[in-house]
Amino acid sequence: MVAENYKEVMGKVQRACERSGRDAGEVTLIAVSKTKPVSMIREAMEAGARVFGENKAQELCEKYEELPKDLHWHMIGHLQRNKVKYLVERAELIHSVDSLRLAEEISKEAMKKQVTVKILIEVNVAEEESKYGVRLEEAEELIRAAALLPNICICGLMTIAPCVEDPEENRPIFRSLKKLAVDIKMKNIDNVHMGVLSMGMTGDYEVAIEEGATMVRVGTGIFGERNYEG
Ligand SMILES: *Cc1c(COP(=O)(O)O)cnc(C)c1O
Repeated sequence: MVAENYKEVMGKVQRACERSGRDAGEVTLIAVSKTKPVSMIREAMEAGARVFGENKAQELCEKYEELPKDLHWHMIGHLQRNKVKYLVERAELIHSVDSLRLAEEISKEAMKKQVTVKILIEVNVAEEESKYGVRLEEAEELIRAAALLPNICICGLMTIAPCVEDPEENRPIFRSLKKLAVDIKMKNIDNVHMGVLSMGMTGDYEVAIEEGATMVRVGTGIFGERNYEG
């Protein structure tokens, strides 16, 4: 089932790219495997999946150790500073940086391990109280400050759109994040790249691609419903 689902989602990603005149190679499908066992990850691998997303540091580390080393792990969930040290050498991209203190911690651990860590700035475009992320107006200030830190690279922006019935409702959210990325890029800040836009989940990833997503994070659509919200 997982392999079929993965292929189906991949097909929809490709068609959304075609519809919007984009090259399918521009969009990375992240299979969000949080709460799911490694056996299901292996099924997804059979269908070609290599990029996985987790929202807990410990779970990411455990799966990293257990599975082949040619996989790419993305940290997509809220991150506590005391967990950063476990991630700097394992997570290829941290999507959820929303404070300078967190960016400073990542920088510090990255220096210790002599690596450069790629991060995205999480923006709470919809201003939902339950969600992490900086507000649109606060993003530039955080980006300018974080850009000065050693051993991190700001690669773009991430947002979690609201849970809606009709994905069209989230189109303005995706459009706003894209606009912010374009605005920031035009400011040519040293050490800041805006090439990555991580937006779109099971319910709305096709709309997100039409609006410029370069990474979509799909969990339920590939692995089925989760038993508990991880
Ligand atoms: C769980 C999660 C997803 C995947 O959600 P689905 O609706 O199951 O596709 C995507 N992004 C983040 C940040 C998540 O925590």
